[in-house]
Amino acid sequence: MAIVEPIPSESGPRRLRISSPLDGQPIGEIEVADAEQVRAAVARARAAQPAWDALGFDGRAACLRRALAILLAKQEEYMPVIMRETGRSRVETIMMEMFPACDSLGFYAKNAKKILADRKVPLHLLRNKKMVVAYRPLGVVGIITPWNGPFILALNPTVQALAAGNAVVLKPSEVTPFSSRLVADLFHEAGVPADVLQIVEGDGETGAALLEAGVDKISFTGSVRTGRKVGEACGRNLIPCTLELGGKDPMIVCADADLERAAGGAVFGAFMNTGQFCCSTERVYVVESVADEFTRRVLEKVQALRQGREGEYDLGPMIWPQQLDLIERQVDEARAAGAKVLCGGRRNPELGELFYEATVLTDVTHAMSIMRDETFGPVLPIVRVRDEDEALRLANDTTYGLSATLWTKGDTKAVALAKRIHSGSVCVNDSSLTYGVLEAPFGGRRTSGVGQVNGETGLRGYCFAQPIVLDRFGVKEEQVWYPYTAEKGALLQKIMRWVWGTPLGRWMS
Ligand code: NAD
Repeated sequence: MAIVEPIPSESGPRRLRISSPLDGQPIGEIEVADAEQVRAAVARARAAQPAWDALGFDGRAACLRRALAILLAKQEEYMPVIMRETGRSRVETIMMEMFPACDSLGFYAKNAKKILADRKVPLHLLRNKKMVVAYRPLGVVGIITPWNGPFILALNPTVQALAAGNAVVLKPSEVTPFSSRLVADLFHEAGVPADVLQIVEGDGETGAALLEAGVDKISFTGSVRTGRKVGEACGRNLIPCTLELGGKDPMIVCADADLERAAGGAVFGAFMNTGQFCCSTERVYVVESVADEFTRRVLEKVQALRQGREGEYDLGPMIWPQQLDLIERQVDEARAAGAKVLCGGRRNPELGELFYEATVLTDVTHAMSIMRDETFGPVLPIVRVRDEDEALRLANDTTYGLSATLWTKGDTKAVALAKRIHSGSVCVNDSSLTYGVLEAPFGGRRTSGVGQVNGETGLRGYCFAQPIVLDRFGVKEEQVWYPYTAEKGALLQKIMRWVWGTPLGRWMS
């Protein structure tokens, strides 16, 4: 089944037909924006941005608040679009898309002014000066997004870029364009001018064109493979970027963990959004003494999951057919190499072409791709380990470093263990929820990404911090100004000896 199909045509712009992963039925068509259209969109955004900046924090926050009110009022209208495009259940759509979208709008409407207010910074040495750091918008931000959270992953960076005073050109995934279109509809209805937020629709060609269209920053969320291309282009064009990429998130279950909670967290962490979540639990390391009991509880919970396509259900289909092929390859390869399939491990054709059953594996090793490469699907491999040290060694034996979860008792022990995990974030005794904690700087290490999004760090990343140094006393001239004389050199050396050569000087500087 193809979810995105080119529509044959002799002439005119390329067009794509998008179908639903639930039943393969067409949803609609999009036209692929070419390089010229993308450049024109960026030019319009650049012209519109100064007026948006001039609105100030209060004016922009008012737009965000209006968007929040509209979203609350229109969620029932928006959700069917997202559910049809992703195959997700209603509850999951509320939890993964609507709820965090409201939170993002509310949080930045309330806090952007405070986070981006001019900061007076006292100077340690030049006491005859003072400094203000101003957070100025970058200009036009290009945002490129994936299909696994088509509304929230387009909305959240857009909220931040707009709140900081930028104009935005958004290139959503060609797999889920209609969910992302809602983001533009929402902001436009809330009063954000059309040219301040524009969508350019299309596939990789459109994304690549945006990288070359003269934007001032790229915020990219997607795969490692595409992330490398984005990073290369941004490097060549000398523009900043954040790259939010894939992961192979480990879960460590210590002997003192609450096993019932850990088993529930493993199942939710691995199967939420049918495993199509960047911070999905992709591998579990459980200490030997509790491994049997933990695995038994996991299995019991997985077998109770309801896979479906209508009404109330827990797991839907895969959104992107190529991903299903990859999952099948990984599981089949692991099985052939000796892994034990405790449940699932096969498609579920009774429901539709893109359904794959919730799968639990044991007897897996790090020689298998299921333990090395991102799966991005409903598969949970469980590994028994001798102790916590072995769990940490294996958890860190990866090229990725997005997020991790740790299940144990006691904050002191948890924080000490968490610091030894090479990941962008760690959640203790819960599945990975850091992206939803807006105060948290979120990002990946190693191949999982570059830079951080969300919160103070993320919001400031949509600005350049402009230090403005002011003179305090207005004396006629500075000591070091021309002409250079031996006396001036001697005076500077005397100051150096006092500042860094005496206890009082070191204390005062
Ligand atoms: P993808 O890399 O295939 O596509 C992402 C976006 O990039 C799409 O809009 C696509 O059209 C565009 N694109 C493709 N080629 C391009 C090019 N040459 N130049 C510019 N843009 C181009 O990723 P995907 O399959 O849509 O998403 C799944 C991946 O996203 C998974 O690896 C997942 O882990 C990752 N992801 C990461 C996070 C995070 O926050 N770290 C969040 C969600 C998803």
